[in-house]
Amino acid sequence: MRFAGKTILITGASSGIGAATARLAAAEGAAVVLGARRAERLEALAREIEGEGGRAAWVAGDVTDPGFAGELVALAEERFGALHGAFNNAGMVGEMGPVEEMTEANWRAVMATNLDAAFHGAKTQIPALRRAGGGALLFTASFVGTSSGLPGMAAYGAAKAGVIGLAKGLAAEHGAEGIRVNALLPGGTLTEMAGDDPAFIDFAKGLHAMKRLAEPEEIARAALFLLSEEASFVTGAALLADGGNAVSKV
Ligand code: NAD
Repeated sequence: MRFAGKTILITGASSGIGAATARLAAAEGAAVVLGARRAERLEALAREIEGEGGRAAWVAGDVTDPGFAGELVALAEERFGALHGAFNNAGMVGEMGPVEEMTEANWRAVMATNLDAAFHGAKTQIPALRRAGGGALLFTASFVGTSSGLPGMAAYGAAKAGVIGLAKGLAAEHGAEGIRVNALLPGGTLTEMAGDDPAFIDFAKGLHAMKRLAEPEEIARAALFLLSEEASFVTGAALLADGGNAVSKV
């Protein structure tokens, strides 16, 4: 029960890594505040968590809307009294293709969802964590853009590398007030984002030393470590949970 009495906000909570993190955090005592676009998914997850004896609240919205970040923080504080952790996890790959053929619109959309949203989240979450007396901020980055460059994913990689820079800057700005800020870099993970094309999944497995992809819960457990007091001296880190993607050359 590492999160007893704590409130954790999670974006991208309607599926994949975000939903898995919400379930595991709630099972360890956290009140979870769920954000994503698909209201019916969030409502179902909140009901499921409450059915297991947990506490959950949700609000549907788009992380590219700067106001949505404030709505989530307000819900956390109004419903559960304070915000102790925020997992800025929503993300999207965008259109795959070479940069020279990429539209300006795609570049902007990928930046807005993966990087601008992290900035807007941090701006409202930092004051809330300060009001709570400290806490943890976490961003989902990726192996793409850091340990690997993948053809067709340059915008996504650039945005995710930017998220790591944002996390490091925030860690330096807020370490002295007990606010830790980290980035989590998942390897390939079996979520909606990875899709269900067997040929692509096989290709992606081969990029990892472990020759498999992660279950969302495996990434969620790394996220919970960084959000928990177990990581009390970890800040400014870019933690790979990548099944050896970075070290795999064959
Ligand atoms: P997913 O598609 O299951 O989840 C993405 C979540 O983000 C969903 O809840 C989706 O609704 C939400 N989302 C996307 N755009 C949004 C927007 N504009 N506003 C609000 N919510 C939005 O995929 P996932 O793998 O669980 O992705 C979670 C994070 O992990 C993402 O940041 C992704 O980039 C990152 N990631 C995934 C992999 C992978 O292989 N699956 C690898 C590395 C990093």
